[in-house]
Amino acid sequence: MEAKRRIVLVPVPAQGHVTPMMQLGKALYSEGFSITVVEGHFNQVSSSSQHFPGFQFVTIKESLPESEFERLGGIEFMIKLNKTSEASFKDCISQLLQQQGNDIACIIYDEFMYFCGAAAKEFKLPSVIFNSTSATNQVSHPEMQDKVVENLYPLRYKDLPISEMGPLDRVFELCREVGNKRTASGVIINTVSCLESSSLSWLQQEVRIPVSPLGPLHMTASPPSSLLEEDRSCIEWLNKQKPRSVIYISVGTLGQMETKEVLEMAWGLCNSNQPFLWVIRAGSILGINGIDSLPDEFNKMVSERGYIVKRAPQIEVLGHPAVGGFWSHCGWNSTLESIGEGVPMICRPFHGEQKLNAMYIERVWRIGFQVEGKVDRGEVEKAVKRLIVDDEGAGMRERALVLKEKLKASVKNGGASYDALNELVKYLKTK
Ligand code: UDP
Repeated sequence: MEAKRRIVLVPVPAQGHVTPMMQLGKALYSEGFSITVVEGHFNQVSSSSQHFPGFQFVTIKESLPESEFERLGGIEFMIKLNKTSEASFKDCISQLLQQQGNDIACIIYDEFMYFCGAAAKEFKLPSVIFNSTSATNQVSHPEMQDKVVENLYPLRYKDLPISEMGPLDRVFELCREVGNKRTASGVIINTVSCLESSSLSWLQQEVRIPVSPLGPLHMTASPPSSLLEEDRSCIEWLNKQKPRSVIYISVGTLGQMETKEVLEMAWGLCNSNQPFLWVIRAGSILGINGIDSLPDEFNKMVSERGYIVKRAPQIEVLGHPAVGGFWSHCGWNSTLESIGEGVPMICRPFHGEQKLNAMYIERVWRIGFQVEGKVDRGEVEKAVKRLIVDDEGAGMRERALVLKEKLKASVKNGGASYDALNELVKYLKTK
């Protein structure tokens, strides 16, 4: 009997989740699988389908409008989305099976799209869960809290990623659902054993189905494609800067700052005397629409040494010789991308798993440090100098470069992530 060829991917419609899953899709496509991406009506990957030639995109019936995200908040939205999507996803899979002559080898779904489990069970299809965060984040889910202190040194209770997300009973409900692996036959995780081997072993013990750490996915397949347009003019600006002199600042695709913080940040950056490249999205600053609404003072401070873009080609920026450090909110993708280019970090996590990542950056890998408390111009200036100018920063950079080499080795022939991907491919080819 010929092996089934089609893999159905179900991403969460947010950049930080979509990017690594689509990278996995590209890696599997190059192994000879056909790829179908199932999505809802908002933040559609298919709007940038030109980056994924050969992929099929299917939209399922809208179960919740995007506006509900604002009204309900992230936790309630995800719980409701899962309740309301189950039926339309079953219809979708049933149609795909008819059209494709039963040719579905596996459904790979983001851990937050757990409604997919029901369809996999009903149609007796193999399924694999996809995690886009660290293994440490996975093992610090609340149902495992009592084990945290023992196994997650140096994490403190206050670092755990559950504190500010919403009423605890609702957070727990979502975590319970996400933690329930249903009938899935494995878990894919975008990490690599050399970064967090003890958390990975622990995760393996807890979930009792095979865990495949095959990251960083942005280093395994062709370069990632953004859903949004990137401003490449910053590369020309970087070309004019001295080696390792620039601090790159980005708080990810969702992070927000208050106007006052943005101004303090600008003062601090200016006073540090280092050139800076700063991503400020239209929605980055609370209550106002982009930098045009900031006082003139801001433009004056920035114009001398700074360059601002709405969106940067981040991996290329981090890989540019002029970049000496990354001021980051420590999302997992940004963390992996920074390490992948050997760039040390100033950590300014907002919440959740970003705090875990920041803790690892500071205490475990020792490739950066956290700036806590209110954003204050003096602290910003000190932090930038500490990272870019001081010997301490040079040590962090050295360690980041060592890790970079380890990551590169792990995705090459014979490396741990390379082998994990091969194992997964072998498994999918038997389905
Ligand atoms: N990103 C980018 N350009 C920007 C800002 C962000 O390409 O100007 C990308 C970044 O490379 C990363 C993703 O957006 O892959 C952000 O993911 P992350 O997990 O770091 O944070 P999130 O946005 O999910 O909080």
